[in-house]
Amino acid sequence: MSRFETRAIHAGKPRPSKGEDLVPPIHRSTVYALDKEGYEEGDPNYTRYDNPNRRQLEGLLADLEEGTGCAAFASGVAAATAVFQALDPGDHVLMPDDVYAGNRKLVRELFGRWGLQYDFVPMSGTGRIEEALRDNTRLVWLETPSNPMLNITDIAAVCEMVDGSGAKVLVDNTFLTPFNQRPLTLGADLVLHSTTKFLGGHSDIQGGAVIAREEDSFMELIRDIQVTAGAVPSPEDCWLLARSIQTLSYRMRAHNQNGMELALFLQNHPAVEKVYYPGLATHAGYENAQKQMSGFGGMISFLLKTRAQGGEAGLEAVRAVAGSRLIQRATSLGGVESTWEHRRSSEGEDSETPHNLVRISVGLEHEEDLKADLERALEGLERPAGD
Ligand code: PLP
Repeated sequence: MSRFETRAIHAGKPRPSKGEDLVPPIHRSTVYALDKEGYEEGDPNYTRYDNPNRRQLEGLLADLEEGTGCAAFASGVAAATAVFQALDPGDHVLMPDDVYAGNRKLVRELFGRWGLQYDFVPMSGTGRIEEALRDNTRLVWLETPSNPMLNITDIAAVCEMVDGSGAKVLVDNTFLTPFNQRPLTLGADLVLHSTTKFLGGHSDIQGGAVIAREEDSFMELIRDIQVTAGAVPSPEDCWLLARSIQTLSYRMRAHNQNGMELALFLQNHPAVEKVYYPGLATHAGYENAQKQMSGFGGMISFLLKTRAQGGEAGLEAVRAVAGSRLIQRATSLGGVESTWEHRRSSEGEDSETPHNLVRISVGLEHEEDLKADLERALEGLERPAGD
């Protein structure tokens, strides 16, 4: 098998013959010519069922995650929806208590009504997962590092614990991408991505994907839901995403480097109370992070030191965010441009994220410019007396 950098450029793409395009074309046609009555499995027929750009993207993502197959979707939550729909009403799901807020909402508000049972538990250790497993648990959903607390779960330990119970282990690998972490090689059954983030990398494509270790009946059902429910990505988005992934290795190297630099800078800054970044030796999940990740990524959360407590402290954090000139205040993550956000305000009323937490998506600008911008933004922040 070629190395990751090479596969990111060549996997999934047919090798062109003489005179053919080196860059694959975008296949906009929604229909394909037929040569007989009816339709058999595998015949090109209609774009919702099959499209060359989507096929190429799925081949590429399956290859990079070291899986056997992939189903691409129109968004990360559409991919998650297909996974939950592949379960039966009455099945039980375990999710991290600090799972991405959109997926928590999806399970609570939509799939609760559909009869799915669920528990949200802390997943920094395996103890609470073991306690919460039930006879009808069919899915253990991991998000490591988690959004926004950057908690780390030991993927291999959870897979070993769940093995033989009838439950699948899924890892949301959005924050790290397969460049930094490959959960299927650690025993996970499924990987999920919001490809909108680092895989897309330029804040201009929405997408999602599910990649399977084995082509079993569960993955077959996910594929069936993909084409029958129809939340498929457009040929243009598949083409653009496959194009972006060609530079994933080099973007992720720089995200990792800038992330580490900024985490260290923040850790030493007098206005900062605590930094959550799995590459710091002070991080509670550092040991597991070292074991299962080859890079620590571009996502950092930090707590600001504030005079006030609670909501007031949150407002102070917002004021600091507003002081930056280069780092843009915006939601989402994974673009070439750095952004930061007061997560609690974005997550809504049931958010348990600390009031004084700011999350940064570290982009690919020069690290010294990013540090200077942070320095300027934090300079104006009022500190507790004595600091
Ligand atoms: N998973 C994680 C970790 C995310 O951060 C997000 C979005 O922020 C999603 C999934 C959902 O992806 P999308 O917005 O593409 O639906």
